[in-house]
Amino acid sequence: MLPRAGENAQGPELRSMSLGELALLVDRMGEKQYRARQLFRWLHFRGAASLEEMSDLPRSFRERLAAEARLDTLSIDAVQQSIDGTRKYRLRTREGKFIEAVYMPDEAGPASFDPEADEEEPQTRVRRTLCVSTQVGCAMGCGFCMTATMGLLRNLTAGEICDQVYRVNADLRALGLPAARPLTNLVYMGMGEPLHNYANVMRSLALLLHEEGANFSHRHITVSTSGLVPNIVRFGEESLVKLAVSLNATTDQQRARLMPVDKKWNIASLMEAVRKFPSRQGRRVTFEYVLLEGVNDSDEDAVRLAGLLRGLPVKVNLIPYNENPGLGFGDPGAERLAAFRKVLSAHGVVSMVRKNRGRDISAACGQLAVQGAREVRAG
Ligand code: SAH
Ligand code: SF4
Repeated sequence: MLPRAGENAQGPELRSMSLGELALLVDRMGEKQYRARQLFRWLHFRGAASLEEMSDLPRSFRERLAAEARLDTLSIDAVQQSIDGTRKYRLRTREGKFIEAVYMPDEAGPASFDPEADEEEPQTRVRRTLCVSTQVGCAMGCGFCMTATMGLLRNLTAGEICDQVYRVNADLRALGLPAARPLTNLVYMGMGEPLHNYANVMRSLALLLHEEGANFSHRHITVSTSGLVPNIVRFGEESLVKLAVSLNATTDQQRARLMPVDKKWNIASLMEAVRKFPSRQGRRVTFEYVLLEGVNDSDEDAVRLAGLLRGLPVKVNLIPYNENPGLGFGDPGAERLAAFRKVLSAHGVVSMVRKNRGRDISAACGQLAVQGAREVRAG
């Protein structure tokens, strides 16, 4: 057995490194240049969990890597399977922290929730989406969100963001899905605020989009933000992937109460950033709006929402609230949702409703990981 890479080493984390950085490392170790590409492909194309698996790399090279670098691989700690096919993974980091990733199959065509829905693409394409986390916990403090109750424990590295995809691909393969890499779409909508971990998120995107790696298309990745305006601007300039904005309220008074980020960047500044967001290659911004009973779900809210969106080439996803016991918010129910949509539509705004995935398995953001952290404390 090879030593696990970097058990003690303070060295660089291999899965977070670009091909160019691996090339420098390989060079420094006096190895042949093509080894960098081989290593990169093991890490990101095959999604290898360990150096042990990398059978065509010389043992001496792998031993050197193990001594001088780290390879962080997540382990699957718990999986919950919903009757609708959704699978929620609780993943463990090397130091024993928990994060979540949620797999949403959609083999059957038209999806209702869909930041990925592309007008130019046939709706019948097989779509298997993973929702990934970007932080352990979150610093943004949204009142309705379970992840917020953890606070921010730490940022995930680029390698850990990517590895959620690789671990779930391996699990889906083991379940018999035919493809070598079953996942087709990614949404950065799990635990954490992606634009609050900007550098690592950008790095993870470059790795996941890399042709020699997982080779995702930028049209099939969406990053969701609670509204960090300066980073939305930067993201628009520096990335081609799609953006979703969690609006969730129509006045600053209301929004600041739900989402403290609004005190720093208000709705007007957020709308301004979205208006200026570069729409290269037909990419449109999606607005997310979680309906909270008696808070933001009235007809007046719908009218104000339509007003905010007037003239913008955006899409709207209405999200039924997945209740978190103890946070004090409720799901308004199907009838209110339908009425809200009707008002939007009467004001010229077409909305989609996010399918309520995995209700039976507490699939809302943060629920499973918070439970895991409690179990560990109790044990
Ligand atoms: N931090 C980012 C991405 C993660 S949250 C953001 O806020 O956009 C992803 C989405 O889940 C957000 O739109 C958020 O409003 C929503 N959300 C959080 N908790 C929820 C819950 N219990 N039920 C339904 N949606 C929830
Ligand atoms: Fe963080 Fe998003 Fe949850 Fe707000 S909704 S606390 S930004 S994860």
